[in-house]
Amino acid sequence: KKVVIVGGVAGGASTAARLRRMDEDIEIIMLEKGKHISFANCGLPYHIGEVIKEREKLLVQTPQSMEERFDIDVRIQHEAVKINREAKVVEIKDLQSGEVYQESYDKLVLSPGAEPIKPPLPGLDLPEVFTLRNIPDTDKIKNFVDEKKPSRAVVVGGGFIGLEMAENLHERGIEVSVVEMMDQLMGSLDYEMAAMLHNHLRTKGIDLHLGDGITAVEEADGRKIVKLQSGRTVKTDLVILSIGVNPRTELAEEAGLEIGSSKGIKVNEYLQTSDPSIYAIGDAIEVKDLVTDRSVRIPLAGPANKQGRIAADNICGRKETYKGTQGTSIAKAFDLTIASTGVSEKTLKDLKWDYQVVHTNSNNHAGYYPGAVPMMIKLIFAPDNGRILGAQIAGYDGVDKRIDVLATAVRQEMDIYDLQELELAYAPPFGSAKDPVNMAGFAAG
Ligand code: FAD
Repeated sequence: KKVVIVGGVAGGASTAARLRRMDEDIEIIMLEKGKHISFANCGLPYHIGEVIKEREKLLVQTPQSMEERFDIDVRIQHEAVKINREAKVVEIKDLQSGEVYQESYDKLVLSPGAEPIKPPLPGLDLPEVFTLRNIPDTDKIKNFVDEKKPSRAVVVGGGFIGLEMAENLHERGIEVSVVEMMDQLMGSLDYEMAAMLHNHLRTKGIDLHLGDGITAVEEADGRKIVKLQSGRTVKTDLVILSIGVNPRTELAEEAGLEIGSSKGIKVNEYLQTSDPSIYAIGDAIEVKDLVTDRSVRIPLAGPANKQGRIAADNICGRKETYKGTQGTSIAKAFDLTIASTGVSEKTLKDLKWDYQVVHTNSNNHAGYYPGAVPMMIKLIFAPDNGRILGAQIAGYDGVDKRIDVLATAVRQEMDIYDLQELELAYAPPFGSAKDPVNMAGFAAG
C-alpha cells in the first residue's frame, strides 16, 4: 500500500507518524512545499519575542529525523500541483529544479493548511507589512525587529495571532497599536469577557482601535502611516497583518472534490473527501461544530493533530470517526489568561437557540493561602435540561485547568448538575473545597 501526504506540518506529520506506527510495511511519501516540516507554528510569536530563544527548538522534526525514525520518504520543497483521480496519480513540482514528475497513490491525504488573508488594500505589499504562518515569515519579522529596531508597530486583527504578536512585540520594547474591525478582540469570547482583556491590555500600554478597520498603508518621512476607516491615522515602523486565514483548497477544487458551505474541503465522519481514496484534515477542511452541528472551520492545532491520527487509522482499516470540533482555545495576554470552549452567547443568539447564562467570580485557590487571584467564569447552558453549551474564563493562574474540565464537560454532554458533583483536586495551594467549576454549577442550578 502506498500513501502520499500533501503538507508536512501539524496534520500531515501526525498522519505520517501514525501510519508508520500502525503499519510497518506501508510506503509513505510526505510532500512539503516549504523548507521545514513539523515545526511548532504555535511557538512562532514567542520566538519573535525571544521567549523561545533558540530557533532550533521550533523545529520539532527535521526531514532526516523523520526519515530515520519513521522510515518516511520526506520531500521538502516539493509541491503537489495536480491530482489525477482516475489514474490515482499526483503531479509534483520539485521547486528547486523546476522538474515536474508523477507519483501514484493508493490513498492520498490532504493537509495543506491555510493562508493568511491579505485584502487588496493599498500598501499591503510594502516590505514593512508582514503576515505570520511559517518559519520564513518568522525569520523575516525577527530579522526586521533585530536589525531595524522599530519603535512602533501596528497589529491588524485581534485574534490569537494578533494578540500574541502584540504581546511579543511589546516585550521587545516596541510600542504597539492593535486595530480590530469588530468592537472587541478575540471573537471567540463574548463582549463582557473580552472587555476584561481590553482593560488589561490598556493597562499594559497597548493602544487599541476597536470597531475600526484599515484602509491603506502609506509611506511618509521614512515611516509608515496606517490609515483607518474612521479617518484616524497611526504612525508605525512595521505592520503585522493577522486578520484570519483562508483554507487552501485550490488543489482539491481543481480535482473536483466537494467544497462545503463554509468554503473548507468537505469530508465525511471518516475524514474522507467526496473521493473515498482521498482524505483531508486540518485547517483546510470544514468540520461539524460539536454543539450546534453546523458546518464550520476551526483552524486549530489540536483538531488537526487528532484528525491526522484518525485518517491514518482509517487508511489502515479501522473505522474511526471524527465527532466534531468545539473550538477549545486559550491565550495568554500578558498576565491575563483567556479561554473558551463550546458555543458563545452571541452565536446562540444568532442561531436563536434558548440558553441561560451565569457568571461567577472565584479565587483560583483558597483565599487564605498566599497568592490567590480571581477568575471570572461564564457558563452557558440549555434551560430545559441544563446541558453545558459553552464556557469562557478570564483570569490568571488556574484558568487552564478549569477550561479543560469544562471542555471535557461540553464534549461529554454533561449538565450543570454534573458540574456540582465533580470531585476535583483540592489542597489550599491548588484549589478550594468548592472549586470554581463547582461554583459555576451551583450558580447555574
Ligand atoms: P499546517 O500546519 O499549516 O501545514 C500545512 C503545510 O502544507 C504547510 O507547511 C504548507 O507549506 C504545506 N502545503 C500546502 N499546500 C501544499 C502543496 N500543494 N504541496 C506541498 N505542501 C503543501 N493552534 C492552536 O491550537 N493553538 C495555538 O496556540 C496556535 N498558535 C498558532 C500560532 C501561529 C503563529 C500560527 C500560524 C498558527 C497557530 N495555530 C495554533 C494554528 C495551528 O498551527 C494550525 O491549526 C495547524 O498548524 C493546522 O495544521 P495543518 O496541517 O492543517 O496546516
